[in-house]
Amino acid sequence: MPKSEPVINPFETAKRQVDIVADIIGLDEATREELKHPKREISVYFPVRMDNNSYRVFTGYRVQYNMARGPCKGGIRYHPQVTLDEVRALAAWMTWKCAVVGIPYGGAKGGVICDPKHMSKGELERLTRRYTSEISFMLGPEIDIPAPDVYTDSQTMAWIMDTYSMGKGYSVPGVVTGKPISLGGSEGRAEATGRGCAYVVREAAKDIGLRVKGGTVAVQGFGNAGSVTANILHDEQGAKIVAVSDSRGGIYKADGLNPHEVEEHKTKTGSVVGFPGAKDISNEEVLEMKADILIPAALENQITSKNADKIQARLIGEAANGPTVPEADKVLFEKKITVLPDILANAGGVTVSYFEWAQDIQGYFWPLAEVNERLEQVMVRSYADVHKVATERKVHNRTAAYVLAIQRVVDAIRIRGIYP
Ligand code: GLU
Repeated sequence: MPKSEPVINPFETAKRQVDIVADIIGLDEATREELKHPKREISVYFPVRMDNNSYRVFTGYRVQYNMARGPCKGGIRYHPQVTLDEVRALAAWMTWKCAVVGIPYGGAKGGVICDPKHMSKGELERLTRRYTSEISFMLGPEIDIPAPDVYTDSQTMAWIMDTYSMGKGYSVPGVVTGKPISLGGSEGRAEATGRGCAYVVREAAKDIGLRVKGGTVAVQGFGNAGSVTANILHDEQGAKIVAVSDSRGGIYKADGLNPHEVEEHKTKTGSVVGFPGAKDISNEEVLEMKADILIPAALENQITSKNADKIQARLIGEAANGPTVPEADKVLFEKKITVLPDILANAGGVTVSYFEWAQDIQGYFWPLAEVNERLEQVMVRSYADVHKVATERKVHNRTAAYVLAIQRVVDAIRIRGIYP
């Protein structure tokens, strides 16, 4: 998915979000500064042997943003436009995300600048293994636990787990989550982000009197998060998916698309574009579509001051991280569009990552029904917590989620005290 406005620096957005909440909860200057800086970060430059026997040097990052509430947690992204500031922002958002759903982690994120769509499986394996070995001294089940993110998957996690374990001399399944089930992955993890998003959409829809059954949905980004959200809203809640898109463009069908068939088409052709019976539209048009529910599930900076006033949805569920910039938030709030912010709406992924890690540590695995039931409990409770703060303080859901999350992180910082 190409970024619409590369000039918007996501870390500047992340810091502004902290300031907005710091003013509301009256944070002192020092705590505010602490929350606007990562605790620890690394850049690594490493060679990878390519299939034609040449080698190339790649750049990777790992940022551990805050660990006041527990070990750092967050995905690894492979994308040509990864920047250190983007990874810092994503690591900050992981910190707030884990706090808002009340799981005992701090936040981290990693990224490698690369174009995985133009690399072979062997090249990706060698890149993953070398990147892992460069950052492995910072990883561990009690230190920092990666997971999948944009263009990484369970296979990537298997290579990370193996590389880390080889260095230790024994298997350490708890060092990453989002692994294949055969290596200690959890049932339900692959679809957890989308499933969690669908649960909070359902809860918010009830509150605003929107019927999801028969309601229309547009999804920007048809990767793991977007496609699963579409599937669940369609299969379990009876919604009509009218538009979807991926990095190559979008499709529209007024009387509804079957998201499973769209997925098959994408697997076959590499894109949703050209799906039989649907009209091809642009990626931007998907956001501005006439639909009750909009699911941005691609990258950052998609809803900006340029298009926020054109959005027609009543409810937005942010399956992506950072899709909306602060200026756009104001416009959406004025338009009375209900936004389920990323740190709540896509927290299902890291929630089931937490379940996976807990299962790995105990060596005791749960059935799918139990995973989904516990996920639902966490998402329903977290939505209710956010909604309550939003109502009490008369702020929008993003600010409410941040108030809750930042207060929890600040409480942990305060009660721990300053070392030495
Ligand atoms: N990459 C996902 C996210 O942004 C999942 C992170 C995790 O499971 O640690 O939330």
